[in-house]
Amino acid sequence: MNCFTHPETAAVGICKACCKGLCPACAVEMDGAISCGGECETYIEQLNKVIRESSTSSSAAFVVANRQVRQQGIILIFFGIAFLAFAYLAWRDGAGKMPWLFAVFGLLFGVFGVVRLRRSSMYPIDKPGKESGG
Ligand SMILES: [Zn+2]
Ligand SMILES: [Zn+2]
Repeated sequence: MNCFTHPETAAVGICKACCKGLCPACAVEMDGAISCGGECETYIEQLNKVIRESSTSSSAAFVVANRQVRQQGIILIFFGIAFLAFAYLAWRDGAGKMPWLFAVFGLLFGVFGVVRLRRSSMYPIDKPGKESGG
């Protein structure tokens, strides 16, 4: 592909706004993009501004995701405790192999719940208070 304005010169990039080929003399380097200048330059400037603004609002999505993962973890741990309680009751009543089954399910739910809670801190946006490991 050659430059739109200088057909003899090889293009080094494409204008992000109008998709014309641009040689080094025509290309206007911008924030992560190339434009042919003029109206295209202003257009890309506005586009970049919108992208920057929308990227700051995506942190709210992270907060919601964190909350959902944490809620799931709490529910799983709650089920785990409930199963362990069932296991204890069944064991006390001497119900054969049932207590072990409940206990295994309880432990599984508990482990999954803890994993989920730990994963919720994987997202970059979290409460200001930083947890110190160990
Ligand atoms: Zn252009
Ligand atoms: Zn050119």
